[in-house]
Amino acid sequence: MLTVAALKESSPQERRVALDPDGAKRLVSAGLQVLVESGAGATAWFADEGYVEAGARVVDRATAIGQAGLIVSVGAPDAELVGQLRPGQAVLGMLGPLTNPELIRELAARGVTGISLDGLPRTLTRAQSMDALSSQASVAGYRAVLLAAEHYDRFFPLLMTAAGTSKPATVLVLGAGVAGLQAIGTARRLGATVSGYDVRPAARDEVKSLGAKFIELKAGIAAAGEGGYARELTAEERAAQQAELAEHIARHDIVITTAQVPGRRPPVLVTAEVVARMRPGSVVVDLAASPLGGNVEGSKPGETVLAGNGVRVIGAANLQSRLATSASQAFGRNASALITHLVSDGELAIDPSDEIQQGVLITHAGEIVHAGARAAAAQSEGAVHD
Ligand code: NAD
Repeated sequence: MLTVAALKESSPQERRVALDPDGAKRLVSAGLQVLVESGAGATAWFADEGYVEAGARVVDRATAIGQAGLIVSVGAPDAELVGQLRPGQAVLGMLGPLTNPELIRELAARGVTGISLDGLPRTLTRAQSMDALSSQASVAGYRAVLLAAEHYDRFFPLLMTAAGTSKPATVLVLGAGVAGLQAIGTARRLGATVSGYDVRPAARDEVKSLGAKFIELKAGIAAAGEGGYARELTAEERAAQQAELAEHIARHDIVITTAQVPGRRPPVLVTAEVVARMRPGSVVVDLAASPLGGNVEGSKPGETVLAGNGVRVIGAANLQSRLATSASQAFGRNASALITHLVSDGELAIDPSDEIQQGVLITHAGEIVHAGARAAAAQSEGAVHD
């Protein structure tokens, strides 16, 4: 019978845990043994006792690693953990197979089965309960609005009191995928006047259905790509978009950016010149901030910069950890749904013909079996030897 172990996450900034007690219970009900490292859920407010009640065994880290057939985590395992893995063991989490080629090569070399939630075919209806990219993006979209509200020195809603009337804050959300739509809904619930924009024409109705205004650009850019994602804009489209968006950005109090294009650097939607045109006290939250750059020129992940004109630019980083309990509950549901899907007769059943497995299975039996991850690993190895 497969033993699944949830460990304490290794990154000190990470407060989520991959299995909450409900997630553990679902696996126990499916006939699996569940081990939880003592204290693994503490930063998300899940005590060891809750796991015991769910039917899991709470053990020390070495026991969990030693006895696990499958280790479930939120982020990728660190070098120390990878060094302790045995051939035939499996790890499941957000491994980032396209951006972590060394890890993927190492897992394959050790004969470890690597399963990554970020490879899931998200449009499959039967995979929706496993979609951790969506559940965690939704958390980030919600939390981004709270972050903006925290840094905005005015009310969000229209307030009429004896001390005067405050106008509602105007919020612009750029990129209306999962995170953007959740940000739109959250800002609306706080009483702001909200507008949204996206390059995918399908986003228009989704934005409007949340009671927000959709910003139409005269440039008429329609950039739906494959699988429901956006394609990268051409240089001309990008210039036209930046120029036209500038007018809209400058007249909003809060701008939240969430734009991503798979496999590419996030597109720059807000230039430094536009930030300089915003009113003092305005707030920009860049959810796409990354070491490679984000949607806002000059934003840095985890840093808040106060521009000379009094505009705060916040490079959002790991917002999910700032809503660790809800994020872990959702992740626990996603991870347990995928694990139960992968198990047959109490054991991991590798089946390359299964569409879900084709997306999530990265390494197995000493090979990198995922084509995209194999290409990324080969490319990075080429770069090392050049
Ligand atoms: P994402 O994180 O890749 O990107 C976020 C948003 O940025 C997208 O809406 C994209 O169109 C937009 N964007 C990219 N470049 C832009 C630009 N230059 N200007 C403005 N916006 C730009 O996307 P996501 O949130 O992961 O969602 C991607 C798609 O997948 C959406 O269509 C979503 O509805 C769909 N989806 C479907 C399912 C499902 O069918 N079950 C599940 C999850 C997501």
